[in-house]
Amino acid sequence: MSAVLDAARRVLETGVGLDEAGVLAVLRLPDDDLPAALDLAHRVRMRWCGPEVEVEGIVSLKTGGCPEDCHFCSQSGLFASPVRAVWLDIPSLVEAARQTAATGATEFCIVAAVRGPDERLMRQLREGVAAIRAAVDINIAASLGMLTAAQVDELVDLGIHRYNHNLETARSYFPRVVTTHTWEERWDTLRMVRESGMEVCCGGIVGLGESIEQRAEFAAQLRELDPHEVPLNFLAPRPGTPLAEQSVLPARDALRAIAAFRLALPRTILRYAGGRELTLGDLGTRDGLLGGVNAVIVGNYLTTLGRPAAEDLDLLAELKMPVKALSSTL
Ligand code: SF4
Repeated sequence: MSAVLDAARRVLETGVGLDEAGVLAVLRLPDDDLPAALDLAHRVRMRWCGPEVEVEGIVSLKTGGCPEDCHFCSQSGLFASPVRAVWLDIPSLVEAARQTAATGATEFCIVAAVRGPDERLMRQLREGVAAIRAAVDINIAASLGMLTAAQVDELVDLGIHRYNHNLETARSYFPRVVTTHTWEERWDTLRMVRESGMEVCCGGIVGLGESIEQRAEFAAQLRELDPHEVPLNFLAPRPGTPLAEQSVLPARDALRAIAAFRLALPRTILRYAGGRELTLGDLGTRDGLLGGVNAVIVGNYLTTLGRPAAEDLDLLAELKMPVKALSSTL
């Protein structure tokens, strides 16, 4: 085993994640060392998180028309991308929660493409959460952008148990990707969420054009935040966005990132989020689940849960990774 991985082995023994220099060394490992890095990351996950995989469904309460300019996002209203502003009605929201629960998922995350919630969105959320609670037994999470202190309190009162707000990329690279708000504004929301007692879900996108050093910087910043969950996306370039021509991350770099982020965050739920199909394909999905990932998102917005959900659940069964039960998350 290489000296880098030899040093990383202490994560397995101590449960303390790699620092920025350690992450960078893993991200720079040659291809020949990648299988050993993934194997070590998998053992770290099994030791510090266990074999269970957390399954989550997401639904978009408000899609498109966002006033922000995140350069990767087709939901920004500032680009020529084809997504228009659409609101979901409450019965459809409840149906999506029901379909999500039917897969065995414990988490249902309500997302909205906004800078932060306005009164209309908060009203829809209140009604939606009440309707879901009356019909479906599932944890409700939310992702509604930047929050005020009063909104944080209201989400706590509504029983939202986890809040997603991604830092997206390293602090030093963020201004190249977003100009309508700052990394620090996002951090402020995360700090308030943390202090409120809600679980913090915070991740980002790998492959935005950041350097390897910035990828390591980002992992270290997440380590400092110590979120309950880190959704890891890989850029899927969207037509009409400023990153439309960005090249797709090579699968080996994506797998190196999975191993490195797991070694930085040994106890965190590390979730496959967007872009994995494009970046990794079927085989890569398996490699990631055997390389540190322990959570997946099933289905998609509102449509009937289709093949991808069944494929993921079949793969988990084949890998003998039990789906985390609701009772153990409450
Ligand atoms: S704030 Fe969210 S929805 Fe809006 S452009 Fe940025 S990533 Fe997209």
